[in-house]
Amino acid sequence: MSLKLYNSLSSKKEIFKSISDKRVKTYGCGPTVYNHLHIGNYRTFVFYDLLNRVLQMNGYETETAVNITDIDDKIIDRVNHEKLSLKEITSKYESSFIELSESLKILPNSYNPKATDYVELMISHIQDLLNEDFAYVSNESVYFSVDKDQSYERFVNLKKDDMDFSDVNPDKKFIGDFVLWKSWTEKDGNIFWDSPWGKGRPAWHTECAVMIKDLFNGQIDIHCGGVDLKFPHHENECAQVEVLCKNFLSNYWLHAEHLTMDDIKMSKSLGNVINVSSLIEDYGYDVVRLFLLSAHYRTKVSFSQKKLEECKKMTEKINRFAKNFTSDIKSIDLKFSNEHDLFIDALNDDLNTPEAIGIFFSFISEMNKKIAKNSINDSDKEKSLVFLKLFNSIFDILDFGNLHNHKIPKEVQDLLVSRQESREKQDWKLSDSIRDKIESLGWYVEDTASGQKLLKKK
Ligand code: AMP
Ligand code: ZN
Repeated sequence: MSLKLYNSLSSKKEIFKSISDKRVKTYGCGPTVYNHLHIGNYRTFVFYDLLNRVLQMNGYETETAVNITDIDDKIIDRVNHEKLSLKEITSKYESSFIELSESLKILPNSYNPKATDYVELMISHIQDLLNEDFAYVSNESVYFSVDKDQSYERFVNLKKDDMDFSDVNPDKKFIGDFVLWKSWTEKDGNIFWDSPWGKGRPAWHTECAVMIKDLFNGQIDIHCGGVDLKFPHHENECAQVEVLCKNFLSNYWLHAEHLTMDDIKMSKSLGNVINVSSLIEDYGYDVVRLFLLSAHYRTKVSFSQKKLEECKKMTEKINRFAKNFTSDIKSIDLKFSNEHDLFIDALNDDLNTPEAIGIFFSFISEMNKKIAKNSINDSDKEKSLVFLKLFNSIFDILDFGNLHNHKIPKEVQDLLVSRQESREKQDWKLSDSIRDKIESLGWYVEDTASGQKLLKKK
């Protein structure tokens, strides 16, 4: 099946066609670096990674950008509050973003552009919009005139009746116009840049538009973000680029649903957040990654310990299965057969991860039955190895290098011998209690046709 993606522009699944044959360009809106990122943010970033890996699985080379917003009201608030410089605040959270992305096995992006490195280009972009009469200066700020963009309202139907005119900014000509450059106010302190319109700073919508113009000549294949960014952020990005470049900014727009906490969006400003590093410490990166990928990206996922525990059991099952295969998984060639096609089709059907996981687990169950009966043949082994490698090329939760590298402690070895003796005496009660003891020491025992088998718990 060829790759299909749900495009927010048409509200339909569409067959993916890249602009150039082999290379796909993607852009995802990245973090605002004023605080530690939470697991909700990483739901979206792991979704970007999923898209990247599925594109690669389909043979595309990918060129990916995820920006870092290091100019923002909330950052300025923290600078004022903590009496630190902008750089001191943002570099700390920027490093944390990169480190946690690595911990969660998110493939590095080709570019992670920062707003502070783009101020000059943003100023000349705003000047271009003014020269073409798409924008106007008011009180030293610059606004985009939305009525100059024929296609405005790509993602929503705005009814003027629904607009709240009570809170209107008197500097705007029309309530729907959006700011491109914000003039300096006292609370900005010493954070400002000089511009032809006075001192101030670029606005958020300007940032992504200019980065896409600079890195990708104003045209990409796929733009992604959390669903909260569809309007106004993505609408406003499109408006600026499309009026100037006279082409679609992006052919496909993909939006990930939110991770929620008791049905409410997890967000830094609400404070209902779960810290990513402590979650990785408690469960391991593999469980957290599987948890984030276990729901389809277009459905809401609710944070739950129960679901994390289920994912922990699932990763243990996958690891136990993988340990059956002593061949070097790393060096196996990916030659797909029918068993693998269903898995690939599920991912090509708008990145349907829950279905792909289900298909992989059905395969594991079928092979486990054969293993228990000692009837697994060479072709099954080959298919299993290929499936493990294929699965991991997307989900990346198995550490192939470490699968067999566990030293069995003496206490566990002795217990295993005692258990063997109790089984020979058919003392099942004792044998079960020894199994429990072994489990409490971090190991599983499986009784197979060829005897007891010991596996390290995750
Ligand atoms: P921010 O740091 O708030 O600018 O957000 C960075 C990215 O995380 C954006 O693409 C947001 O849409 C996304 N995001 C924020 N909160 C959540 C959440 N609770 N669930 C999923 N994605 C989120
Ligand atoms: Zn953006």
